[in-house]
Amino acid sequence: MKIDQGNDLSKIEESFIDNLKYRTKGQIQNLLSGLSKIKGIFFREDNLIYVDLKDKTNRKNFVALHELGHGILPWQNELSLALDNKSSLSMDVEEQFELEANLFASATLFQHERFNRELEKLPLSIKSGMALAKKFGSSNHAALRNYVLKSRNRCGMIVLDKIPEPKWNKPFCSLRNLFYSNSFLQDIGELSIPEAFGYKWGFAQDFKHKRRLHEAGEIEFTNIVGDTINCKYHYFFNYYNAFVFFFPADEKKKSKTKIILKNV
Ligand SMILES: [Zn+2]
Repeated sequence: MKIDQGNDLSKIEESFIDNLKYRTKGQIQNLLSGLSKIKGIFFREDNLIYVDLKDKTNRKNFVALHELGHGILPWQNELSLALDNKSSLSMDVEEQFELEANLFASATLFQHERFNRELEKLPLSIKSGMALAKKFGSSNHAALRNYVLKSRNRCGMIVLDKIPEPKWNKPFCSLRNLFYSNSFLQDIGELSIPEAFGYKWGFAQDFKHKRRLHEAGEIEFTNIVGDTINCKYHYFFNYYNAFVFFFPADEKKKSKTKIILKNV
């Protein structure tokens, strides 16, 4: 299997799509209108993967591995063509083949044990997740998610989306994802978190003021049985989403590693 260097999705031509359409007997008929949103294609007949080569972020590594997953997971043989967009490339996707391709991509990218070993050396910080993204060539989103899910510390992550044209005095960012580490769930349980956030939430203020990165947040959460949990939070905004990495204020981790991130 190889990545097609000639058919770059960022400058894809209609003739290419027409050809695919013809050869897949119209399976992608409704595609053209949404073409700009397609991030990756797997086409079994040619054993080819198409990704957006203009995408300079590490996201394309994940996309390529996702498409590879469609190609090599044996029980997906019946799938002749996959067209992937933001939602099929999300870890929240419910469609079985898409989820499998995402899990394949994540496991391959992060090389399970190696990721865990690296994680153990690093301090409890959002910067650790970002450093792991650089090291493993993944997006910040994917690495931060994995960082939280694999952490032995009690911690969690809120991913924020912008609400387009929010009403005055109403929430202006929404909850995209929420992850917890196992020890957080065991010790504290799930938090009571709304679907959208306005000014009363410190991290929503960070979002409103377009803050980029800080490790100085303090916040009170309530869990679903009504206990108050005093937490610290670290905040990072990558111009698409904001990431709020939180952990109980008394959570400690010993690490001698100091993280210096360049070009953030
Ligand atoms: Zn897919």
